[in-house]
Amino acid sequence: MKIEQLSAVELGRKIAARELSSHEVTEHFLSRMAAGKAVNAFTHIAGESALDQAASADKRIAAGSLSGPLAGVPVAIKDVLCTLGSPTTCGSRMLQNFRAPYAATAVKKLLDGGLVMLGKTNMDEFAMGGSTETSAFGVTRNPWSLERTPGGSSGGAAAALAGGMSPLSIGSDTGGSVRQPAAFCGVCGLKPTYGRVSRSGLVAFASSLDQVGPLAHHVEDLAACLELLAGHDPLDSTSLNAEVPKYTQSLNEPLKALRVGVIREHVEHEALDGRIRKAVLESQKMLESLGATIVEVHLPHTSFSVATYYLVATSEASSNLARYDGVHYGYRSMGDPKSDSPLDAMIARSRSEGFGPEVKRRIMLGTFALSAGYYDAYYKKALQVRRLIADDYAMAFNQVDVLLGPVTPTPAFKIGEKTDDPVEMYLGDLFTVGANLAGIPAISIPAGFTEDNLPLAIQLEGPALGEAKLLNVAFQLQQAGLFAPKLAPEV
Ligand code: GLN
Repeated sequence: MKIEQLSAVELGRKIAARELSSHEVTEHFLSRMAAGKAVNAFTHIAGESALDQAASADKRIAAGSLSGPLAGVPVAIKDVLCTLGSPTTCGSRMLQNFRAPYAATAVKKLLDGGLVMLGKTNMDEFAMGGSTETSAFGVTRNPWSLERTPGGSSGGAAAALAGGMSPLSIGSDTGGSVRQPAAFCGVCGLKPTYGRVSRSGLVAFASSLDQVGPLAHHVEDLAACLELLAGHDPLDSTSLNAEVPKYTQSLNEPLKALRVGVIREHVEHEALDGRIRKAVLESQKMLESLGATIVEVHLPHTSFSVATYYLVATSEASSNLARYDGVHYGYRSMGDPKSDSPLDAMIARSRSEGFGPEVKRRIMLGTFALSAGYYDAYYKKALQVRRLIADDYAMAFNQVDVLLGPVTPTPAFKIGEKTDDPVEMYLGDLFTVGANLAGIPAISIPAGFTEDNLPLAIQLEGPALGEAKLLNVAFQLQQAGLFAPKLAPEV
């Protein structure tokens, strides 16, 4: 088997057994990254530093001072996470030359686990988008069809996997940005419970929704990666102080007593593509044959979720992005020395030149929703509806262990198809934003292909801290043949 066809855990096993060296595996992926340039999955290729990390991992493994299931395995990191020794751009001109003074806790934990950082992956600017078309560094292409988007905002992370350029990627998910690109690129993606993984060093978009999550071809790789990532972090006051289960050890549990809720409002939604509906129903049958009981459940406030999400997310973004003033961080314009207020002019110009149109749109929306005259009607109302949405999930989890439904209304769309119509783009988030608003974990797993070879996917959602069950169910579906990891045709 070729190196790029092995799972991250298998690579880890072979590296530990010294059948492969981390150095040769890393070299292999670096050459695949170079060959896959047309996809534009990366904003930065770590090259030399990756090979140095790999050589040091090999040495430490040989000396017996480094072990662990993913030691020596390469990983691609979304460019929203702060890293030392490489730029952290967030897909924005604003941070084009930004070098973080510290590494994100998530990154630090991976490097401490002996993983090797291959590079930083392309993304929608400040993680705002669903297609990786708003990046200041060009669009990322979907390896399954180069004229289509890989989804977003973690489009580079998912495309790197589909193109066999990395065995494991780390993304972030505020309203679907791990799960939606995973679905479009035919890989698995997990959004953990809010607070499960530290947000320290994750550049903030919407702080009450943001969560770091892994993407991979194999469910087992997600489990092994989450074991490393999860846990309390004193640097993030919202990180949960809950024990981290051994996710890899419960993957094989039988699904006999499992109760699965099929979300009526999602499966019967008029915007849902028939091929995706069929994939959900087929996986429902597969779960039944594995012994699970299927129950129909309702999330009655589904139709408010996109509006609620876009009020909460833009409000928080407008506040979080106030820090980019040309002084504290990133891009600074020369300003206008002839202006009455050169400082104000410098700040205004830095922001208008540094941010792209989607980011500006969101700052304006959020500023409006938070303004004195409109706060009660928009932001406060959105928080009230957010509670109703979370209550819907709580009611559903009184009846069932996991929820089943679609990830996206359609398979990957064409580049440029939705760029002129932001609302159309936002509506594509309708099945993913609920998990973020409720703070619960959710996983996207592949479920076949369309007749023209575009990946299809299904979503499983669970109660807070229910990652072990989600990974268990997803693993059982993968074992039962719902999907087999597949690389996109040579790009
Ligand atoms: N597509 C959603 C948005 O544009 C989600 C983004 C995300 O999860 N970072 O806001």
